[in-house]
Amino acid sequence: MPEFRQDLVTGDWVIMAQDRAHRPYDHGGGNSACPFCPHNEERTPPAVLTLEGDTGWSVRVVPNKYPALTPEGAVVDGRIGPYATRTGVGFHDVVVESPEHDLGLATYTVEHLAQVMAVWAERYSQLAADPRVQYVQILRNHGRRAGASREHPHSQIMAMPFVPDRVRLELNRAHSYWSTHNACMFCEMIEHELEAEARIVMADSEFVAMAPFAPKMPFETWILPVRHQASFGQLDSAGATALARVLGALAKAMNSTVSDVPHNLVLRTSPTQAAPDEWGSVHNSYHWRLEMVPRLSTPAGFEIGTGVFVNVATPEDAAKQLKTAICPV
Ligand SMILES: [Zn+2]
Ligand SMILES: [Zn+2]
Repeated sequence: MPEFRQDLVTGDWVIMAQDRAHRPYDHGGGNSACPFCPHNEERTPPAVLTLEGDTGWSVRVVPNKYPALTPEGAVVDGRIGPYATRTGVGFHDVVVESPEHDLGLATYTVEHLAQVMAVWAERYSQLAADPRVQYVQILRNHGRRAGASREHPHSQIMAMPFVPDRVRLELNRAHSYWSTHNACMFCEMIEHELEAEARIVMADSEFVAMAPFAPKMPFETWILPVRHQASFGQLDSAGATALARVLGALAKAMNSTVSDVPHNLVLRTSPTQAAPDEWGSVHNSYHWRLEMVPRLSTPAGFEIGTGVFVNVATPEDAAKQLKTAICPV
């Protein structure tokens, strides 16, 4: 069973999941060898959620065959000498986004991408309802260098028994901003960016895609709902379609600007449980977003040593290039 271990020095939590060492990588062999392609469904664990299409399934959510977290058992804290541990309880799903082996974010129709977004939101809400779950991480790795072991288009949903420190950091900052300004810091940021325009890639009445003011990586782009929304679980079907329009257009623009570069898509959202007092009203102060981070540079010694990133592309320049490449869909 996987296990969380806390680094005594930094306080960072790490998942020890030795079974994942055995996960296979694609070695060519075409679609017949792919466990995510139609007719190979028995090669994955049974689906926990299926969206039916006109001719068979359209989107399938299956438990990861090589999970970093497992749904059995209770959350139990342990101690080994000075060290803290926690059982690796949680969920690790794979969202097989399409029956088509060769499609992806930039090539789905808006309708199909909207289905994927709706499945994310539905599964998010299912997992959030489990009392052991405190945070749900949705992510998408594209390309071997970004951590993907399979070519078939897929994303992952991981449900965790605590709120990770990286998320706590943002919740603390959002709460502190709220306490001082009586406003959501993300809403204020969006308002400023729409006014300033320099870092906007595209925007409509529902979503904005923008380069953040201080991106760690070249061409890092954030998608945020324009109207205040704390949790991704609040995304409805109209929202899923609006999000798909912006995400699809951004993926296409990214492809034509930096080609098919490996990238990660990372959701940042509020915790699933009622928030403890330390963060105040998360519902008012936090605001979810989706980050697209192309792997155009590799964090090296300086970044590992200091946590300070050196970015060789300004967000204003990146946004300008992406904006020029946007074709509305
Ligand atoms: Zn496939
Ligand atoms: Zn807001």
